Amino acid sequence: MAAKGGLNLILLGPPGAGKGTQAKRLEERYGIAQISTGDMLRGEVAAGSEIGKKAKAIMEAGELVPDEIIIAMLSARIARPDCANGFILDGFPRTVPQAEALDVMLGEHGLTLSAVIELKVDDAALVERIAGRFTCATCGAGYHDVFKPPKIPGHCDVCGGTTFSRRADDNRDTVAARLAAYHRQTAPILPYYAAQGRLYSVDGMAAIDDVTVAVERVLSGVEA
Ligand code: ADP
Ligand code: ADP
Ligand code: ZN
Repeated sequence: MAAKGGLNLILLGPPGAGKGTQAKRLEERYGIAQISTGDMLRGEVAAGSEIGKKAKAIMEAGELVPDEIIIAMLSARIARPDCANGFILDGFPRTVPQAEALDVMLGEHGLTLSAVIELKVDDAALVERIAGRFTCATCGAGYHDVFKPPKIPGHCDVCGGTTFSRRADDNRDTVAARLAAYHRQTAPILPYYAAQGRLYSVDGMAAIDDVTVAVERVLSGVEA
């Protein structure tokens, strides 16, 4: 399927499915921008901005931030020059109204979606993935206590940094609320994109490298 305006992708899946991990790899491989609404919101919270003040408590409860805030944030983001070759949306859309708003927004920018890739992972595995997740505080590289520990303990593989951070919402109570929000509000997006003929599903339970191979196989079919 030919897409207007580059390789424009959505990675869809529950919290902990591996969207951020795979998006980083696609960013490097295809020269397209990873856009994580969760990372953008955490940046707003850290900066203490108006958006951050509104989003903080909602995120800590594992609920969804209102659509108007997210859509305004995103519309500005996809107009930036690093999206010229395309982008990977990670964590957006999360509701059917967001998916509809995205179609309108892309139309206004003269763009179309290339593909929506769903990472399928069982709930039990997600809880384990989220409980062990941490990132390098210097460069943002993602790790896992069991599944992807740094090669030299305490040192980031990418930048050598020695400070790491864990997300405030990566605790067992919030995870349950986030998974419930996914099943109730986000899963209904799957039939929306299936009806457009844009949905591809990948087994997200496989090892990180194998998931990358499966995603690239999908993209080799849609790129041309
Ligand atoms: P994960 O990577 O675990 O799926 P995210 O980093 O995408 O989580 O999101 C963290 C939190 O940020 C969500 O629980 C939600 O509160 C908020 N958030 C992120 N993206 C959106 C969005 N598109 N719409 C509403 N809320 C969002
Ligand atoms: P998401 O962005 O969908 O919330 P992440 O990419 O942050 O998910 O992955 C969640 C955690 O699981 C991270 O600690 C990551 O290192 C680990 N992880 C990602 N993909 C896999 C995989 N295929 N197998 C095992 N662990 C994984
Ligand atoms: Zn690092």
